[in-house]
Amino acid sequence: MTTKKDYYDILGVGKNASGEEIKSAYRNLAKKFHPDINKDKGAEEKFKEANEAYEILSDSHKRQLYDQYGHAGVNAQAGAGGFGHEGFGNFEGFGDVNDIFGDFFENIFTGQTGRQSSKKSRASRGDDLQVRVTMTLHDVLTGSQKTIKVGHTKICDKCTGSGAKHGTSLKSCHQCKGSGSINFRQGFFSLSQTCSRCKGQGQVIENPCENCHGQGKVRIQEPITVKIPSGVQEGTALRVNGAGEAGNFGGPSGDLYVVIHVEPDQKFERKDDDILIEQKISIAQASLGAEIEIPSLEDHVILRIPPGTQTGTVFRVKEKGIPHLGGRGRGDELVRILVEVPTHLTEKQKELLKELAKSFGEEKTAKDEDSFIKKVFGK
Ligand SMILES: [Zn+2]
Ligand SMILES: [Zn+2]
Repeated sequence: MTTKKDYYDILGVGKNASGEEIKSAYRNLAKKFHPDINKDKGAEEKFKEANEAYEILSDSHKRQLYDQYGHAGVNAQAGAGGFGHEGFGNFEGFGDVNDIFGDFFENIFTGQTGRQSSKKSRASRGDDLQVRVTMTLHDVLTGSQKTIKVGHTKICDKCTGSGAKHGTSLKSCHQCKGSGSINFRQGFFSLSQTCSRCKGQGQVIENPCENCHGQGKVRIQEPITVKIPSGVQEGTALRVNGAGEAGNFGGPSGDLYVVIHVEPDQKFERKDDDILIEQKISIAQASLGAEIEIPSLEDHVILRIPPGTQTGTVFRVKEKGIPHLGGRGRGDELVRILVEVPTHLTEKQKELLKELAKSFGEEKTAKDEDSFIKKVFGK
């Protein structure tokens, strides 16, 4: 730890070396002394030196400090935590190393060996599917069962997904000798590439299954019965496990999502789990009060209108709305009252209304029914 070597000397470049020259010099050294390749004594030390030098010289700010003050100028940054890596598995601190070598280094740093990793990574879950189901408000009230037909892939029964004709088996791939990957050397590196013939499977189909043409899966249209609980909302998605596309290379199937669309109802408007309805009543009912029959989701209910009910009044009929999804109880039915002003009156009715108007002390109402109505209904 006495005298530190000059960073330019370590990389073997001149003081005026360009960024490219520095990068290329470092690259050569890193390849030469990488401890996974070079087991010589001192190689690891040289590799660390090269990394340290490169870290400083590849950064224009640090390089400037180094040029000006030597090691003292950059010691704080370089010495402390920067290079204290144990082994060479963790290269997060080096940033640039990965930039330079890209996936060239990947196999070494992640410790993968072609075959297993490529085989494992190929097994993947099938895609999810989505289908829309339309329901009426009454379906929502009671819950329902829908049978839907959804086209999806499934593992071929004949070959149980192998893709090979019944009675024949998969043959070991001769190109990769069954390993699924091809290894070759390039300089100091041993590289591994997925076998192009078997796509990393290590096996090939010689006699394809006639049912699936070697695909291992077939497309089917299978009726699926879905139980839709009461209280579902517009857009509720129900998942049917495993009813999506078949998985790949032994991976699990995807899921099917049944997305609920609730048709607008002619009579009832839905607001969360409450239902809204408008109910017209006559001026007599509004004034005197009444018991009226109003439609409900199931049938009808009796609503008591108190005397003097104004137009726009909302009555709440408890527990006549939509059942809460997956819970107890249900919403309410809200009844908004509209007091209807009669437009066609018989002579008899006119007489009666005039009488009424007189009793309110309205002299001129015989010619002006509107003012009477204004007085009674406030509009
Ligand atoms: Zn192969
Ligand atoms: Zn098949």
